Amino acid sequence: MAKLYFKYGAMKSGKTTDIIKTYYNYKEKGMNVLIMKPGDDKKAGSNIQSRSGAELNADYVVLLNIDVYQLITYHLIDNNVDVIIVDEAQFLTPKQVDELSEVVDQFDIPVLCYGLRADAFSNMFPGSQRLFEISDKIEELKAICKCGKKATFNLRLNKIDGELIPVFEGEQVSIDGIDAEYDSVCRPCYKKLRREYGKKKQEE
Ligand SMILES: [Zn+2]
Repeated sequence: MAKLYFKYGAMKSGKTTDIIKTYYNYKEKGMNVLIMKPGDDKKAGSNIQSRSGAELNADYVVLLNIDVYQLITYHLIDNNVDVIIVDEAQFLTPKQVDELSEVVDQFDIPVLCYGLRADAFSNMFPGSQRLFEISDKIEELKAICKCGKKATFNLRLNKIDGELIPVFEGEQVSIDGIDAEYDSVCRPCYKKLRREYGKKKQEE
């Protein structure tokens, strides 16, 4: 039986590198890989690029109102699919996660979802919550904080006067490299930065 996988990790935990490696592993065995990426606006794009420069293109960028089960059903009329990889899976709606589980159960196709656990303010993404609830296999991809501890928090950085400043409030979604930059840090370092930058804000 095929399984629904959730591979989660903070920013810079190597999710994209793992996606690209997995993609080529399947391809070398002559298998058909379908790549999907949820996107709620035009900024998302279909490009999947690792920090080392390797890149892939998503076959589908799915909007929030798309029924993913139906989409795959249509795709399977003319195509064979052996495995589905979902990048940025935190942006799936909970309903779409359920639809992907239907793809796994009805078509016996494994679905590998890669995504973040929580946003830059340590609130879980609804799509990730659903993946934690119903996935068959859950794996953590580890990132390392500057201090050497495991990084589990995503730190959002806004460029202000050419300097990157940590921010601790704002919208849940702010696209990496476009609206903001991110770093991954451990919880103690995140709290320390929040205290420091909170204090600076009060002094202004
Ligand atoms: Zn740290």
